[in-house]
Amino acid sequence: MALGVFLSRCGGRIESALDIQAALAGVAGRASVVRVLDDFFDAGVAEGISRDIEEHRLDAVVLAGHSEEHFAKSLSASHLRDAIVAAGVNANRVAAANILEQCALAHPDDVAGATAKARAIIDVAATRAEMAEAVEGEMIRPRSSVLILGVTAEAVVAAQRLLRLGYSVVLADREDGSKRAGRAFEMHATTSYVLDHPQARVIDSARLQDGDGYLGDFRIVLESADGLETYRVGGILLARPDHTEWVSELRQHFRVDVDDAGFARSLDPAMHPAETVDPGIMVMPLRRSDAQQVDKVAAADAAAMALVLKLSHDTVVHYRDTSAVDTALCGGCATCVRTCAFGACSISDDGFSDVDIRRCVGCGKCVVSCPVGARDIVSSPHDYLLGAVRDLARAKVEGDKVIGFLCGGCGYPAADSAASTVAGRGVGYPSSFLPLRIPCGGRLDALYVLEAFKVGFEGVCVYRCREGHCHNLVGNLDMDRRVNLLRTVLRSRNIDDARLRIIDISPFEGEHFIHTLEEVYSTIGGLANGKGGPL
Ligand code: SF4
Ligand code: SF4
Repeated sequence: MALGVFLSRCGGRIESALDIQAALAGVAGRASVVRVLDDFFDAGVAEGISRDIEEHRLDAVVLAGHSEEHFAKSLSASHLRDAIVAAGVNANRVAAANILEQCALAHPDDVAGATAKARAIIDVAATRAEMAEAVEGEMIRPRSSVLILGVTAEAVVAAQRLLRLGYSVVLADREDGSKRAGRAFEMHATTSYVLDHPQARVIDSARLQDGDGYLGDFRIVLESADGLETYRVGGILLARPDHTEWVSELRQHFRVDVDDAGFARSLDPAMHPAETVDPGIMVMPLRRSDAQQVDKVAAADAAAMALVLKLSHDTVVHYRDTSAVDTALCGGCATCVRTCAFGACSISDDGFSDVDIRRCVGCGKCVVSCPVGARDIVSSPHDYLLGAVRDLARAKVEGDKVIGFLCGGCGYPAADSAASTVAGRGVGYPSSFLPLRIPCGGRLDALYVLEAFKVGFEGVCVYRCREGHCHNLVGNLDMDRRVNLLRTVLRSRNIDDARLRIIDISPFEGEHFIHTLEEVYSTIGGLANGKGGPL
């Protein structure tokens, strides 16, 4: 396995906060090529990395700099990733080591701590890149059709844009035509154009009954007075993100982020106001009662264009970040079938568990529930997570060491948000807090917590979504059951269970992240036996 490590100075922000050569020292011996770049997104960087990949025949790449979440959101970041994949590295073997938000920006007053933590994070990412199994991408020819949920003024503007670009449109509303007249018909000319268009269809009194698929190819079953009908569309546009019934129906089948009111929200209101965590589902970024017509048009344009940008390619590649079954171990007990909230598991005719890749969202709940360890998730394999706990424990940082299991839905983005809170107050949080990203709170195996105490962590924090916010519906609550049992096990081993904290958080709550972390450190500091102790 030939590994390449590319570190971005992020325009000087990393260089000024930590010792780059010391941070790379751990990985330098195992990498075929190590490069320090000024910024990943400078012109020519993607070409330079691609050249290295081809010349050194690299199989795995670590991008040390921005957060994993940045690579999911930013267009320039996905361009870089695409270039790396095109040069020959499997998409599952490209790992981001987040040393910007969670090292350089988090610890501006602690160069030694930030450096040691960065070194550990880069090492863990290198292990992840090397050991993750190669995944096949599924090439999809995106369907030129869009489902719009909610017939509003914004919906008809977006529909008009899409129709004029050659897409066909299905508009579904909760109510019938007479009741929704006041909403969309304020834009009479546009509405007439849309409703009379041969490529448009309006479904009244609709409910979303079923759905599966991904960007480019969704299958949606709507129920209306005409019965159940199935539609195949390339993308979904939620024109009523404030309509909790639409949102909760969508959430039964796809990952949708919600706020405290249960409204669907975008990935990043500042930079990506229409995009959601699922790349094929967009929201109308602006739903305010006092919104002017011009605001509605802008919101509709933003959402329609964001979707068209994704659907206008000849092919899109869907990587199967799903659960895999080891049939040599599977006993067909069907525990995973009962655990999966998305109906992605079934027992096939040969008696083994089967995963429906169109429904699986890679949450990992089935991995944790399987009694014989027959399941794994391709992007976060069990052996990697367990090994990462041990690797992080070796970090040479000062003070009580705390590991943070951060769910990808809320915990990890909240830790990233904490960087701007630190910038506001100029003082970082303890660099002995070591983060490990997990796909969902439901992926947390009790074994990882026990291992963390065994290898010397004084505290374990799990940052997960608030109740009702989990991308994977009930991953966070599922975890509760296991953690309550785990507390009993900890006490039986003389480990004060106050060392294990479960913290509910939202993606933008950087201040809350730091506040709760301060509480964790103060609790651990006040505990009588000082250390976790051997298991
Ligand atoms: S829980 Fe494990 S053993 Fe049981 S059916 Fe699912 S994969 Fe097989
Ligand atoms: S990873 Fe989650 S969605 Fe996929 S099969 Fe397992 S429990 Fe179901």
